[in-house]
Amino acid sequence: MDPLLRFAPSPNGRLHLGHAFSALVNDAVARRLGGRWLLRIEDIDPVRATPENIAGIEEDLAWLGLDWPKPPRRQSEHMAEYRAGADRLRAANLLYPCRCSRGEIAAAVADREAETGQPWPRDPDGTPLYPGTCRKLGAAERERLVASGRPLAWRLDVAAAIRGAGRVSWRAFDPAGREWIVDARPERWGDVVLVRKETPTSYNLSVVLDDAAQGITHVVRGVDLEAATDVHALLFALFGLAAPLYHHHRLLTDETGQKLAKSRNSLPLAALRQNGETPDGIRRRLGFP
Ligand code: GLU
Repeated sequence: MDPLLRFAPSPNGRLHLGHAFSALVNDAVARRLGGRWLLRIEDIDPVRATPENIAGIEEDLAWLGLDWPKPPRRQSEHMAEYRAGADRLRAANLLYPCRCSRGEIAAAVADREAETGQPWPRDPDGTPLYPGTCRKLGAAERERLVASGRPLAWRLDVAAAIRGAGRVSWRAFDPAGREWIVDARPERWGDVVLVRKETPTSYNLSVVLDDAAQGITHVVRGVDLEAATDVHALLFALFGLAAPLYHHHRLLTDETGQKLAKSRNSLPLAALRQNGETPDGIRRRLGFP
């Protein structure tokens, strides 16, 4: 099987230098492996994925001199597949409905911390783990909740999922071709939301189903997503799908060491272009010949 990679931005704004870096790393690694890369538009956020941001992705990547098979896959066109994936997990009793709002979760966590005098465990991104309020609802209560028609999220019962899947690991690779095994600890994330209240999927669910559906063999993405790979490995195992290999590249930082995406100085590529920067200049700046 020829190596197949993907660059999968979320159109939640215009692409900036960090995206350009990730796309160029994908392109370089694909060449090095003798394969190709696809573009995938991860437009599951119904509010932030605007037509301008989506069109901007292809415009900016083409301006950089990159090329990919057209048209790109758009996640918003594959909701039925994500629904079917969630149904499979639901049928295996691995998902439960959750009505908790962010505020309710924060309050429950604050209560626990006050009770125990201990900090409540955080996930790798620093968010407190879901305290399990809705996991404890009985079958009748769950049914009532679903029948009520109110917007619900569906969470993975991570302990049950780990019991079902057993010990999970994923394969890492580096551009020089070395490979090694990483033990996954998906429990670090707690009961993650796989179906959001406002859209029938989530990043974690659709990224796994799409990488499988598109036959992706090598995932190249930023190291900020490395810990999430533990959840992806668990989902691949639960679905019985073949997982790709993963390479997590460094993130670009600004002069103050802040991640570019969050930095005030992370100008969109479109703005750099308007300021007279050239694709060659950007490539050189990012360390590509
Ligand atoms: N859509 C994700 C993002 O823009 C990246 C997904 C991935 O590469 O796995 O952060």
